[in-house]
Amino acid sequence: MYHRIAEEEIDPWRLCVSARHFDQHLQVLKERAHPMTLAGLAAAVGEGRYAKRAVVITFDDGYRDNATRAYPLLVRREVPATFFLTVGCIGSERPFWWDTLAEVLLRAELLPPELALSAGSVSETWRLGDACHYGAEDRLADCACDPWEGRASHRLRFFYRVWEWLRPLPDTDRDAALAEIERWSGIPRGRPAESRVMSTDEVLAIDAGGLVEIGAHSLTHAALPQLPEDAQRHEIVGSKSHLEDLLGHPVTSFAYPFGGHNAETATLVRDAGFARACTTRPGRVQTRADVYRLPRVAVADWDGEELARRLWRLGA
Ligand SMILES: [Zn+2]
Repeated sequence: MYHRIAEEEIDPWRLCVSARHFDQHLQVLKERAHPMTLAGLAAAVGEGRYAKRAVVITFDDGYRDNATRAYPLLVRREVPATFFLTVGCIGSERPFWWDTLAEVLLRAELLPPELALSAGSVSETWRLGDACHYGAEDRLADCACDPWEGRASHRLRFFYRVWEWLRPLPDTDRDAALAEIERWSGIPRGRPAESRVMSTDEVLAIDAGGLVEIGAHSLTHAALPQLPEDAQRHEIVGSKSHLEDLLGHPVTSFAYPFGGHNAETATLVRDAGFARACTTRPGRVQTRADVYRLPRVAVADWDGEELARRLWRLGA
């Protein structure tokens, strides 16, 4: 599971893999495994043509660098992949909300001592304490730590708490809260051009190339299990129909935004006509896997050998 081929200074979720490392990954996977699209793997398994060490490269979200950096390398090495697009964001000039939040909260060296936000019936106040200051040493330490290991700086932990609070909000409430956070920080944000999402033309060109399978990742990257059933269905069915209208052919693979799913979400995905869905649960796909709960391996900015070690350690 990849998200971005980029080298960003601010990358709190460790989503960026450098083009150099990604190219090494492709070499390793091509030489020692059998890269396929997710739909291709499903077809092969269905026909009993299961390849040992079959591997599927997936990209979530639809960042523009998937088209400008990942795709040319995939083409050059002739390695298939599956891209899961946040369908309602295709062609949008706006960055994803979590990138905006990171720009505001993690670029500033000094922030005010208290942040109060409210949205609908919920409100929250954070006292920043040591998180007010974010020095060069904190930054360096954060670059080296895993987001889930709990050794993050006070500022990075503050970012994660605000992120968690914003995540389930309806889009309009979240946008208002983000605008409030920007005002509060007093710091104009820079928007790196590479954070933009793919354009319609880029999606169409990749689809026409035939090497990459296009899958859906909801309409707005909503945290699905936190939505009422109707809203979940709208996100799931809408992403399928919009993408199929755009591409002119069926779309059969889905990835849950934030990996979030429960029994209801999985049923809605199946009923929408998707044939399979990926989670973010770590692991390797077993022969008898639940096709609506496929595990993945989150790939960080490792070199080729490190990727190989981590994959083969799974018993592949
Ligand atoms: Zn995502």
